[in-house]
Amino acid sequence: MICRTSEISKQDGKEVTIRGWVYRQRILGDNVFLVIRDAFGIAQCVIKKDAVGEKMHKEASEIFIESSVVVSGTVKKDERAPGGAEIKATKLEVISRGEAFPIQKDLSEEYLLDVRHLWLRSRNMNLIMRARHHIVNYLREWLDSKEFFEIAPPMLTKAGGEGGADMFELEYFGDTASLTQSSQLYGEAMIFSLEKVYTLAPSFRAEKSRTRRHLTEFWHLEPEMAWHGQKENEEVQEQLLSYAIGKMVENHSDLLQGLGQDVEKMKKVKPPFARIMYDDAVEKVNELGGKMKHGNDPGTEDELLLAGAFDKPVFVKNYPKEIKAFYMREDPDHPGTVLNADLLVPGVGEIIGGSERIWDYNELMERMNQSKMNIKTYQWYIDLRKYGSVPHSGFGLGIERFIRYILNVEHIRDTIPFPRTMSRLEP
Ligand code: ATP
Ligand code: MG
Repeated sequence: MICRTSEISKQDGKEVTIRGWVYRQRILGDNVFLVIRDAFGIAQCVIKKDAVGEKMHKEASEIFIESSVVVSGTVKKDERAPGGAEIKATKLEVISRGEAFPIQKDLSEEYLLDVRHLWLRSRNMNLIMRARHHIVNYLREWLDSKEFFEIAPPMLTKAGGEGGADMFELEYFGDTASLTQSSQLYGEAMIFSLEKVYTLAPSFRAEKSRTRRHLTEFWHLEPEMAWHGQKENEEVQEQLLSYAIGKMVENHSDLLQGLGQDVEKMKKVKPPFARIMYDDAVEKVNELGGKMKHGNDPGTEDELLLAGAFDKPVFVKNYPKEIKAFYMREDPDHPGTVLNADLLVPGVGEIIGGSERIWDYNELMERMNQSKMNIKTYQWYIDLRKYGSVPHSGFGLGIERFIRYILNVEHIRDTIPFPRTMSRLEP
């Protein structure tokens, strides 16, 4: 039976077989030490000539790292070995003897991106990709437990009348299509059937900004909820994020620690999150040394300053309506501002944008006309307000930004296997 590398210390004295890739090779006298990695960790094997024979011993001593192998032998506890045990090999089978591996020490970031298809085997990438899988699963798990339905939105859409600068356009049988920037409007259509829905899909944005938090293709989790105002919307966000973080701390703190994250810090991320009004946020940013003008969106630096002042995520609420999207409902209690909140976290800045949507037909038409929008392209969306409209709200969480926050990853590109940015479309 094949044993995982991470399990061998439980097999002291037993015969095991492991399989994987050569992570390190070292020759000490007549002994060859091979460290083998698989999806879950590494294990050390010692290959002695008298145990495996001359031919296998020679193969082991000439092997390149990243060759794929199957090793059988007896487990012996050994404090010096990684994981606290070592396999005394009786058999080594080289499945594919690799060529000299092109990734050695101290290579530039750019080169590592060029050989991303190989760099994904590195320990950090392995930990991040495993954690990513679990984070996404926990988000889905919470939504499922609250009776949200996952729906499948289109990625190809009719180019909007806005001609947005950050839209990818493509030729579509003589017409122009664009890659979706958000699935929200489709989510809104589905609440009239399913009430609470979410999409988990890529969004595409031709972002020209080279920042540590922008990709041109990112995964976007977008819940949309009938009968929910902005207050309930924020509560859903708090609970959803705290659940995923709590589960990561509870079940995968080894991954967090392996990546240098402070697990104690993440344990404290529990509802309620902090809340601040946009007007007060502008003042606070400037008190903290920023230079934010009222009526502007906070820049990255402003967001980091503000988020850094709280030890929990913070909702920034009620932005001026002029700087927010046409579908956000004006706050009757604070005219001129909308019922929205961006959620900011320390070290990353904005990870969620959310709002209550305009659900009244006339209000929507008025706002769209003010914003000089192409009514024809959005006719189907406007239609939703004609037949039994209901109060509703929703939000968009950038999966990669959330992962950056939970795992303390410096750059967004390392939270996704094959990052897409302005300067990178390969591999
Ligand atoms: P920013 O101001 O940082 O560009 P945004 O206001 O454009 O963000 P929204 O349109 O509200 O963002 O999108 C919702 C969420 O999607 C954001 O809070 C963020 O987590 C994520 N997101 C948006 N653009 C990107 C991007 N280019 N790369 C990665 N994630 C993104
Ligand atoms: Mg943006």
